[in-house]
Amino acid sequence: MLPLMENFYTIQGEGFHAGMPSYFVRLGGCDVGCYWCDVKESWNASLHPLTNTDEIIKRAIDCPSRAVVVTGGEPLQYNLDHLCKRLNNNNILTFLETSGSYPLSGTWNWICLSPKQQQPPLSEIFSIANELKVIIYSADDFTWAETNAAKVSERCHLFLQPEWSRRNEMMPLMVDYVMQHPRWNISLQIHKYMRIP
Ligand code: SF4
Repeated sequence: MLPLMENFYTIQGEGFHAGMPSYFVRLGGCDVGCYWCDVKESWNASLHPLTNTDEIIKRAIDCPSRAVVVTGGEPLQYNLDHLCKRLNNNNILTFLETSGSYPLSGTWNWICLSPKQQQPPLSEIFSIANELKVIIYSADDFTWAETNAAKVSERCHLFLQPEWSRRNEMMPLMVDYVMQHPRWNISLQIHKYMRIP
C-alpha cells in the first residue's frame, strides 16, 4: 500500500527526459520542507489514500506510455521494490525523482537526484544518480550545485533549473553560469509553459 496523491499520463516537463510521454505516480509524504515547493499539498501523507500497489501498477500497464515517473513528495519514504519489480517485469521503464534524503529502494532505469540543502542526500545515492537537477532560487544555489556535482559520477548529467517564481531573475545568471561552466545544462519546467500537469 502506498499513499497515492495522484497518477496521470502527461509529458515529462523537466530534466533529461523533458518531452517524453510518461505516466506519473505522485506519492504523498515529504518532510524536506522546501519553502518554494510547488506541491506542498503532498507533504502530509495521511491526506492521500493508501492505495494497493498492484492497482497503481495496473493503471500504469494500461497506459500507452512505457515509462513511469515516480515522484512526490519524497517517494523514497516508502519501500518501492515491489512497484519497480512488477513494472520492469512488464517492460515499463522506471524513473525516480528524489531528494535522496531516504535510503534507496526499488530498481530504477533512471534516477534524477534533486538535492535540498535543509535535508541533504544520503551518500549512497550520489554514485548511482543518472541526473543531478539543482533548483536555482538565488545566486547562492550555484555553490550548492557544485558541492553536489563533486559527489556524482562522471556519467551523471548535470542540470540547473530555475525555481518557477524566480525564473525571470535567475535566468540571466543561469545562462552566464552555464556558458562559463559547460558541464551544466539548463532545465526548464516546460510542462508549465505547455499548461499541462
Ligand atoms: Fe517539495 Fe520536493 Fe522539497 Fe519535498 S523535496 S518539499 S516535495 S520540493
